[in-house]
Amino acid sequence: MNFRLTDEQQEFQQYCRRFAREIIRPAAAKHDREESVPWEVMKEARKWGLSGVEYMTKIGQDNDGLMGVIHAEELHWGCAGIALSISGSMLAAAGIAASGTPEQIGQWVPECFGAGEDLKLGAYAVTEAQAGSDVKSLRTTAKLDGDEWVLNGTKVFITNGGIADVTVVVATVDPALGHRGQASFVVPKGTPGLSQGKKETKIGIRASQTTEVVLEDCRIPVDYLLGGMDKLNRKLEKARSGTSTGRASNALATFEATRPFVGASAIGIAQAAYEWTLDYLEDKVEDGAPVMQQQGVQQVLADVATEIEAARLLVWRASWMGRNGVQMSAGQGSMSKLKAGDVTMWATTRLMDLVGPYAQTTDCPLEKWFRDAKIYQIFEGTAQVQRLVISRMQRQDYTERLHSMAEVLEQPPGVSSGEPTADGTGTDNARAQGDRGRGVAGKWRSGGAPRTVGSGASSFSNQ
Ligand SMILES: Cc1cc2nc3c(=O)[nH]c(=O)nc-3n(C[C@H](O)[C@H](O)[C@H](O)COP(=O)(O)OP(=O)(O)OC[C@H]3O[C@@H](n4cnc5c(N)ncnc54)[C@H](O)[C@@H]3O)c2cc1C
Repeated sequence: MNFRLTDEQQEFQQYCRRFAREIIRPAAAKHDREESVPWEVMKEARKWGLSGVEYMTKIGQDNDGLMGVIHAEELHWGCAGIALSISGSMLAAAGIAASGTPEQIGQWVPECFGAGEDLKLGAYAVTEAQAGSDVKSLRTTAKLDGDEWVLNGTKVFITNGGIADVTVVVATVDPALGHRGQASFVVPKGTPGLSQGKKETKIGIRASQTTEVVLEDCRIPVDYLLGGMDKLNRKLEKARSGTSTGRASNALATFEATRPFVGASAIGIAQAAYEWTLDYLEDKVEDGAPVMQQQGVQQVLADVATEIEAARLLVWRASWMGRNGVQMSAGQGSMSKLKAGDVTMWATTRLMDLVGPYAQTTDCPLEKWFRDAKIYQIFEGTAQVQRLVISRMQRQDYTERLHSMAEVLEQPPGVSSGEPTADGTGTDNARAQGDRGRGVAGKWRSGGAPRTVGSGASSFSNQ
């Protein structure tokens, strides 16, 4: 295990920090005040190679899976709202990648970003007034009419709503089947029947646009169904016959894969608040003595630093697992997001307490980080729902480990000896554990079936 960033990762980290300091921060106050979309910063991010297909290719080549979370943390260090505007299309791209055929991925993912100076955006629309955490209760319908799908419903709180070139809409094809009766559809900008509803006024991440997305008899070609008709029909058949697919819904899988990025985004805010407070307190003197020499202050700063580091390690681990195909069967992705969101809300509050009355004014930068922090306990899985997900996955993981141990004890001696493998890369046991982690049905797994991400949460939504 190596905890040191490679030279390339460190260089990328510094490059992202430079962009955040020189381009994002100077624009942050204006877009926060005006609640406006930071188009000029988004275009600049493209020029710097920090968004779009070029950027995705770069992070895709990083076998550690750390470039993406480094990028998220550093850009959010600059301003969370602007950073979300730059990277918000990733959720739509992830939704397409999770559900689409290779042809659909090739066609629609680039449409979420555009090429060169042609900036395009994507939106991922799941949440409705009565269905966010409880995603099985979606009411937006998709009905087949000849060779077209007809979509009807209203999505709420959609990032990039109204400005997206591609909106991925999750709708129900058969409401009686809950999330197993749902499918994802691509709806391009300008499709008749697609419109922007209410634009939300928010306390934080104000540079990121959040709106309702309204679908009224919105007709799209049949092949805009992600995954295609055959796959949908097979899924519906299985659901109707009560056969378990063993797979979480596409929406849940999409959210699980993006959780470490959300955690990294939160940490960027906490790190920004922590660094600013260190600078601010450095010159402060109280009763003739530097504030930094007060043990009460040191206690808080030490706790904040430690919690940020702990959250970052969870995020990096989950991101590494995601990149290397190691199943997060014990809720590791959810843990990273939960911890990072809670730490950021807690840290910004504690740091404001240290700074005192000045922190209550809008002149103090801490107030913005405090406002921006809250959403990381809400979207892509509220903190409460994440705890349910983790708890269920932990329980299932523990039960499986007990079964595995029982199987090992029952095996005759020598079947799995812990002897070095022929190629010298480890022991039989280590190899078997590694296979288990990668989801390969191995001799250590009870039942032999590989588990998919989020399966411990399949009885309720974990968005
Ligand atoms: C700024 C912003 C941007 C967003 N962007 C998007 C987007 O791009 N696409 C999208 O689809 N959605 C988006 N959302 C929606 C967001 O993901 C949901 O609001 C969130 O998942 C919560 O779901 P909900 O609205 O149904 O809240 P609810 O589930 O109704 O939550 C209300 C409260 O009940 C708690 N709760 C719910 N169920 C349980 C339970 N079983 N046990 C304990 N407590 C529970 C929740 O934790 C919360 O505290 C966005 C939201 C915001 C605010």
